[in-house]
Amino acid sequence: MRKYEFWFVVGSQFLYGPETLAIVDARAKEMAAELTKVLPYPLVYKVTAKTNREITDVVKEANYRDECAGIITWCHTFSPSKMWIDGLRDLQKPWLHFATQYNKEIPNDEIDMDFMNLNQAAHGDREHGFIGARLRKPRKIVAGYWQDAKVHKRIGDWMKAAVGVAVSKDMKVMRFGDNMREVAVTEGDKVETQIKLGWQVNTWAVGDLVKEMNKVTEAEIDALVAEYEKSYDIATDNTAAIRYQAKEEIAMKKMLDREGCRAFSNTFQDLYGMEQLPGLASQHLMAQGYGYGGEGDWKVSAMTAILKAMGEGGNGASGFMEDYTYHLVEGQEYSLGAHMLEVCPSLAAGKPRIETHHLGIGMNEKDPARLVFEGKAGKGIVVSLIDMGGRLRLIVQDIEAVKPILPMPNLPVARVMWRAMPDLTTGVECWITAGGAHHTVLSYDVSAEMMRDWARMMDIEFVHITKDTTPEKLEEELLVKDLIWKLK
Ligand code: MN
Repeated sequence: MRKYEFWFVVGSQFLYGPETLAIVDARAKEMAAELTKVLPYPLVYKVTAKTNREITDVVKEANYRDECAGIITWCHTFSPSKMWIDGLRDLQKPWLHFATQYNKEIPNDEIDMDFMNLNQAAHGDREHGFIGARLRKPRKIVAGYWQDAKVHKRIGDWMKAAVGVAVSKDMKVMRFGDNMREVAVTEGDKVETQIKLGWQVNTWAVGDLVKEMNKVTEAEIDALVAEYEKSYDIATDNTAAIRYQAKEEIAMKKMLDREGCRAFSNTFQDLYGMEQLPGLASQHLMAQGYGYGGEGDWKVSAMTAILKAMGEGGNGASGFMEDYTYHLVEGQEYSLGAHMLEVCPSLAAGKPRIETHHLGIGMNEKDPARLVFEGKAGKGIVVSLIDMGGRLRLIVQDIEAVKPILPMPNLPVARVMWRAMPDLTTGVECWITAGGAHHTVLSYDVSAEMMRDWARMMDIEFVHITKDTTPEKLEEELLVKDLIWKLK
């Protein structure tokens, strides 16, 4: 995983004289150092820019340097914005405009015109904001005192979303076989997606994976099984099935890493030469940060990897999910989400168990091993990226996950139970109105605001279903957006 950082660019001009500029420079340095202690990624102070040239220089460098995941600008003093036009026009990295000021309070006794000339972010940031609006440049605006914890959280979340942009632009997806036959929502324009989101989506033969599996040694399998035993409870005597999953995982990981892919998809309809659909294998790869999509769903696979990278510590609690069935008892309305096998253990409330069960669907000759667990309770989101033909739509719905209200002792897969907002049935109506897929990424630590930031930076349509959404309002919103995105 790449190490990312963000650059702090402070706007000013020569009008104030060298003493004022020296103070601005020292304070910017101090602020970047202090903010680095509380933000998820380092904030590196680059320059107090006084000229068009200084701005275009720092932008060129930011565009060129892979480790720079975005820039944060602020105007301690007034910085005339015509000198920002060339730089901002060429900026290819995410941009956050931080409207803050060095002092928290207006100092009653000491305030004079010198103080006013040094501390004029209130109008400096308005001049800076105008040129962002005038250029129609996508940017995040965060206003507030720079030592306020709420401000740190918002900047930190934006940083994580910007890392999601960097990961997206670097995304390679390995597809083992094609999509499940006849399914519409898992399809999409791969060329358009590469132009827009940067994803390289390509296919490898299942036969190549089988060849790679045949090269895996018993010693490699022993080592991985020992790792499984450390992380999970073994609740099966079928060690052959666990060893077979280990062999699949090792082979897939080698192929993914060799090609620089951080996401993959497969389908139960094409397991030619394999005894088991990868279950435990895919789940343990997801736990390491790889994205996965079932039935050839490369869009949800890449999105899973991106949300994971946007989460806590660069590999958060996010996983591939599928809406399966509803509990429609009044007052206890919930969705039950699961998958055939492949639910990421980062969603688990407790220690997952390895079990083996018969899997009737697909080409499985033998019973696949898989992790079985209950999902965590807590607030979260589900995310779906769909291809509307000519554009991509990102749908995010707020959810409240609960401890599953039934033990379901015969259900042989991991399960998560949640209530979609605004309530289960209205939420379903909204989701279906927007065209959201049955496959989603479910996340406990990526917020809807982070996904909104990500969609703005990627320049794609964003739809958010919240506790306040109604099907009527949503229908109107989608009609308007349909027109806007046709014009764009
Ligand atoms: Mn599925």
